[in-house]
Amino acid sequence: MRAVRRIAEGRVELVEFGVPEPGPGQVRLEVLAAGVCHSDLHVVDTAVGDRWPRPFTLGHEVCGRVTALGPGADPALLGRQVVVYAPWGCGVCPRCLQGRVNYCDARRTLPAAGVGLGVDGGMADALVIDAWRLVAADGLDPGFAAALTDAGLTSFHAVAGSRDRLDVPDAVAVVIGVGGLGHLAIGILRELTAAQVIGVDSRPSAVDLALACGATAATAPDTAGELVREISKGRGADVVIDFVGAAATEELGATLLRTAGDLVIVGSGGGALAMTKPDPLPAGARVSLPFWGTRPELAQVVELGRGGGLTTQVTAFGLDEAPRVFDALRARRVVGRAVLVPASPLSRRSG
Ligand SMILES: [Zn+2]
Ligand SMILES: [Zn+2]
Repeated sequence: MRAVRRIAEGRVELVEFGVPEPGPGQVRLEVLAAGVCHSDLHVVDTAVGDRWPRPFTLGHEVCGRVTALGPGADPALLGRQVVVYAPWGCGVCPRCLQGRVNYCDARRTLPAAGVGLGVDGGMADALVIDAWRLVAADGLDPGFAAALTDAGLTSFHAVAGSRDRLDVPDAVAVVIGVGGLGHLAIGILRELTAAQVIGVDSRPSAVDLALACGATAATAPDTAGELVREISKGRGADVVIDFVGAAATEELGATLLRTAGDLVIVGSGGGALAMTKPDPLPAGARVSLPFWGTRPELAQVVELGRGGGLTTQVTAFGLDEAPRVFDALRARRVVGRAVLVPASPLSRRSG
C-alpha cells in the first residue's frame, strides 16, 4: 500500500508499505478520504516534526470503511463507513477517562498529538486503528466526513466553549481566517447560535466562501473594524475566533472585541498577544486556547453534518498529489478543505 510521509524538512513523499494487520481491539480501514490540514504543514515544515523523531504517515482527518477486524473487535463494524477520533492521550488520566483526550494530563510528554501527528495516520490506502476511536459516518460524503474530524470538531469545540457569551440577545461573532476550519466554524455558529457571524479574510475567494457558508457579512482585515462596529451597533464582537493565530490577527481580534468578550485563539500562527491591563484587550475579556475536541463532540458534529446545515467546500485530490497539495496549502491557494482520496482515478493511474 502507499502512504504519505515526511521524508525531510519541508518535503512529503508517497512511499510503499506492507498492509498493516490489526491487533487486539483494532480494525483496519480502507481509507476513503484524508484531510490536509495546516497542522500537517507545521509538522512537515518546522521543528514540530522533530518533536516526534520516529517517521510516521500523516493524516489526522480520516474517513474510511472497516475491512478487517483484530481479535476482540466487534464483528458488526465490518463494512461500516466511519470517521476516526484522532487526538492522542495516555488513556488513564482523569481527562482521558472523561473522554477529554484532547486535554490529556500527559499531553506534553505523549509520543504523539494524534493519529497522523506522531503515529501513523490516514494519508494512505489503509490504516490500522483502535476500534474505540471510530464514530459511525455511514451515508456521508467521505471527504466531508473526514473534514468533520478536525476542521469540524475543532470549530465545534471552540464555539462550545463560548456558548455563554454567544447565547445573548444581538450577539456578534467574528471568524478570522476563513480556511478549512473557519468556513466550517461559520456554519456551526449559524446552526448552534442566533449570533450574527462576520467572516474576516484577506483573500477575496475566502470572503466569498464565508458568505456562501452563511456569514451575515464578510470582509478583508483592514475594513473589519468598521464592519463589526456597524453590525454590533458600536459595541464590538461578543466572541472573536482566530483561526490564524498570527500577531496581526490576534491584535485585530483584540481591537474587535466587546467588553467582557471572548478571544478564542485556535490557529498556531506564532502570534504573541500582550496580556496587560488595561489594554489591548477590553475589560472582562477572556482568552482561550482550545485544542481539537472530545469524542462525544465528534459524534455531535457528525450529527450536525447529517442535518445538512453545514456548507463545506471540499476539494478531492489523489494520494499521489499530496506534495502538490502541500505546496498549494503553503501558498494559501487552497480554498476550503483539501482531502486526499486514495481511490481517485488519478491515484489509481499512477499508484
Ligand atoms: Zn488539523
Ligand atoms: Zn490522559
